Amino acid sequence: MTDARVYLDWNAGAPLRPEARAAMLAALDVTGNPSSPHAEGRRARALVEDAREEVAALVGARPAQVVFTSGATEANNAVVAAGWQTVLLAGIEHDSVLVPAQGLMRSGRTRVLELPVDANGVLKPAAVAERARDAGVGHCLLSLQLANNETGVIQPVGAAAEAARPHGISVHTDAVQAAGRIRLDLRALGVDYLSLTAHKLGGPKGVGALVVRDVAALPAFIAGGGQERRRRAGTENVAAIAGFGAAARAAVRDLETMERVRAMRDRIEAAVKAIAPSTVVVGAGADRLPNTASIALPGASAETLVIALDLAGVAVSAGAACSSGKVAASHVLQAMGLDPSLARAAIRVSLGWSSTERDVAVFTDAWAHVTAQLTGHTAARQRAVA
Ligand code: PLP
Repeated sequence: MTDARVYLDWNAGAPLRPEARAAMLAALDVTGNPSSPHAEGRRARALVEDAREEVAALVGARPAQVVFTSGATEANNAVVAAGWQTVLLAGIEHDSVLVPAQGLMRSGRTRVLELPVDANGVLKPAAVAERARDAGVGHCLLSLQLANNETGVIQPVGAAAEAARPHGISVHTDAVQAAGRIRLDLRALGVDYLSLTAHKLGGPKGVGALVVRDVAALPAFIAGGGQERRRRAGTENVAAIAGFGAAARAAVRDLETMERVRAMRDRIEAAVKAIAPSTVVVGAGADRLPNTASIALPGASAETLVIALDLAGVAVSAGAACSSGKVAASHVLQAMGLDPSLARAAIRVSLGWSSTERDVAVFTDAWAHVTAQLTGHTAARQRAVA
């Protein structure tokens, strides 16, 4: 990537923070295994435990509640597979929650009950209690993301956890997109499990954490060693964990910059509506993350928009481009009941702490240019058909 490019796909992966890079480089030269009792091992252990403190501070948890994983996919899979009779979830969850839940349902081991969301993709906490009363849920997990990766829409996780508690339901939140963008507090959220991944907040890819309120309430999900209090066996990825810790610390420090990010995001949304008044900002009626805009241009194809913007030097994504590189209709927008043609026209623009006014200006110019071309083509096609 040259300097001239504009990166507006922070929800897929944030740029590595300099602090994380420095911590990782230093950790790579630490020789010992963190499980070894000698001085070299103790040095490696200290790096892991320092990082555990930083990650715990990011979410208002105690260090002992943090279990390091290879990312949020592993953390989400581990929670969903922890032996529930029933899992309650809404269709807006990330695939790393939905797909393992569907697998358990097919195997007949777990019943999965879907919760409704409104047109902004927001769950009504009362729906949790209603579902629990109707269905007699047994040993049950509610999994509700804190903020959506495509729309940035924030869920009322605290209220949902409160509604779940009298029914004996355990609560998990996927806080991947919220971490480092809004202030998080495990106790205020009232959840039992919380998933994180480092690379959305400026740490390295391939490391994350599952924060567990009561560590006893999580069966081992990787066996064969005593690491991570026997929950997750295997020698820790010390350098990645050190990078995660440094990124978590910097993310807490930089939380106040999110108001500047919000102002830039709002200007992008205002600009695209000024360019084409029919443009829809998905989820605009809900509480949202400050950095995310889901923008649908009626009649356009998201794939075409993403490619055209890429050619113009701007990186954005269509739907949840996290894993596949392919552009399928977004299950999130479908679950929100968005018209399918509008869902296919939605791109995601996401910013972060080092986004600049130039990024906003370059995106807005490129958008004006690309949409003028597309609308011109559409008009020409309509004339040809007529
Ligand atoms: N949950 C959400 C909401 C995400 O956006 C992502 C994106 O990657 C994940 C989970 C999975 O994180 P990872 O791929 O780092 O495991």
